[in-house]
Amino acid sequence: MLIEPVGGPSGEPHDSVGDLPDAHVRLLGEQLKAQSEQILATTVVRSSGLALSDAVEERFRRMGEISTLAVASWMAGGSVEEAMDVGQEVWQIFGQLAAQHAAPLAEVTKRVWRWRDAAVEVLRRTASREQVPTRALEDALAMLETTLRLTLVQMCESFDAERARADEELERRQHELTFLATHDTLTGLPNRALIVDRLGQMLLRARHTKSAVAALFVDLDNFKTINDTLGHGAGDELLRAVAARFDGVVRDVDAVGRLGGDEFVIVAGDMSPGAGGELVAERLLESLRQPIPIGEDETPVTVTASIGVAAGDRASASDLLRDADIAMYQAKLSGRNGYVVFENAMAEAVQSRMELELDLRAAIDKEEFFLVYQPTFDLRDMSATGVEALIRWRSPTRGVVQPDGFVPLLEETGLIGEIGRWVLLHACAQAAIWHREGYPVGIAVNVSARQLDSDQICADVRRALQESGLAAASLTLEITETTLMRDTEETIRRLTAIKELGVRIAIDDFGTGYSSLGHLRQFPVDALKIDRSFITGLVHNEQGESLLNTLVQLGKALSIETIAEGIEAVGELELLQANECDGGQGFLFARPLDADAIKAFLKQCIAGETSVRAPTEPIPRAHTASPKP
Ligand code: C2E
Ligand code: CA
Ligand code: CA
Repeated sequence: MLIEPVGGPSGEPHDSVGDLPDAHVRLLGEQLKAQSEQILATTVVRSSGLALSDAVEERFRRMGEISTLAVASWMAGGSVEEAMDVGQEVWQIFGQLAAQHAAPLAEVTKRVWRWRDAAVEVLRRTASREQVPTRALEDALAMLETTLRLTLVQMCESFDAERARADEELERRQHELTFLATHDTLTGLPNRALIVDRLGQMLLRARHTKSAVAALFVDLDNFKTINDTLGHGAGDELLRAVAARFDGVVRDVDAVGRLGGDEFVIVAGDMSPGAGGELVAERLLESLRQPIPIGEDETPVTVTASIGVAAGDRASASDLLRDADIAMYQAKLSGRNGYVVFENAMAEAVQSRMELELDLRAAIDKEEFFLVYQPTFDLRDMSATGVEALIRWRSPTRGVVQPDGFVPLLEETGLIGEIGRWVLLHACAQAAIWHREGYPVGIAVNVSARQLDSDQICADVRRALQESGLAAASLTLEITETTLMRDTEETIRRLTAIKELGVRIAIDDFGTGYSSLGHLRQFPVDALKIDRSFITGLVHNEQGESLLNTLVQLGKALSIETIAEGIEAVGELELLQANECDGGQGFLFARPLDADAIKAFLKQCIAGETSVRAPTEPIPRAHTASPKP
């Protein structure tokens, strides 16, 4: 209890209210109790004005009730302590209401006054009705007044305590929120926002102290594999462990942050001018050298990182981070598990790459792509067997760009999906036109690995056949050998679905990958296009010829047609024929041509006047060629 028990209600104890209240006061107390409903009703009627929620009004009613009962039982002979015990609940509710901003303190105070006024009225009415002596009435009123004062004092204390508690809680929550907004929840490290902020401060300070600042952009090399094979739980554990290792090797003035995923950033300040952060990079790489035990069985997991380092002054923290990011990309390209220091030329390369990407995106809408077609031949009779569609880009600023200059970027950005679909539709439509014009030529379309990563390719092929009306057997998809080394199961499934439509499948650039016979057998393959590197310089190269012979024999063993790419010399052609290669393609016969030129070429073929110098007599098989097992 916060207050001393009072000797008398008004502070000036009256004789009769000391130990035992006289019978009149007792009577007043009993009447007060009996009319507590009445007091409540009066208080409520008078309290109109400020609109408070029903829940709050209900609490006011409850407080009025308790207060009346408390003071009434005191008058009726109960002890002050008892009354105060009952009153305590009231004070707490008052305090809470005010502290929680459910009702303003002034409003709470007013309500207490109104309750007092209502009680005074009841006491006076009762006194005159029951002819209670003035002294007893005064005593009763004094007791009421004391209760009122006690209530107000206690209420204020309760209010203060409650306010302090609420403020503390608010501060704690704000702290929590700020932490959440500036830190990564998984590792507890600063997040991008905070790291950029720190880096900005470091840059400012470095300008004054003439010291250097470095930013290191770290990307784990094999995190995705670990995540996929060991599960996300293990992945999270690994990230926390990596965070701890990095944190353990940087100086106190440095900061480690996580940007998300498996990307970390380290900002190092106060370095001697000219220091580039290489040492920090080495320490970070070193910290990962020991395997990290993961899971209950502590499976040792080795993780490596690619680090980009950028040091020196920049206009902003983001600029320094961006340069570190560019350098990290270079570190990935140059074999991972190492670091690369940023150089301006890297930014230029990134810049021109970005421009190329922008131009390529626009090129789709502006219809700047077009196709050329290169014929393929049957090497036995030199008849044309089909054409391969090859993409070109007529850029308003760069001129006609060959596929090597933009297809890799299309693949990297995923734009190849859309362009690849365009090629399929366009090539099939063109082939259908030739068919209608009386040239039933086959058409081959190149398909990137990336296109085979989704079922979309099956839909695209179906659509191209449907819209053009081209017979499925006239279409061949060329897929590079390296594509088949990727996610094998899904690739087999998609290729089989396409094959079931009646479309042919050819393996492009064959011999450059590492396909084993067994591996190749898994795929529904119709033709192997032997890579140009096997054909170039074939003449006077016995080893090359025997290799070629092996590839051709492999095809025959698997009943797969073999086609030689890039035939440029008559000698090459003769050797290919001698080794019984089925088909061929190359500048010797024809370069890639536009659709009109192909039509003229096909017309010529039918007339039997191709420019191909087909040998008239069969060439004897080269005796030097010995097939390898
Ligand atoms: P590829 O599929 O191996 O196409 C054959 C490439 O060799 C073509 O180059 C062709 O012009 C060239 N070539 C043909 N005969 C000879 C020859 O006798 N000597 C020499 N030196 N080269 C010859 P191109 O058109 O520059 O295409 C390069 C690569 O770009 C293609 O290689 C293919 O992988 C890719 N590509 C072309 N068009 C497309 C397409 O529509 N989609 C996809 N995904 N890739 C395409
Ligand atoms: Ca090809
Ligand atoms: Ca090829």
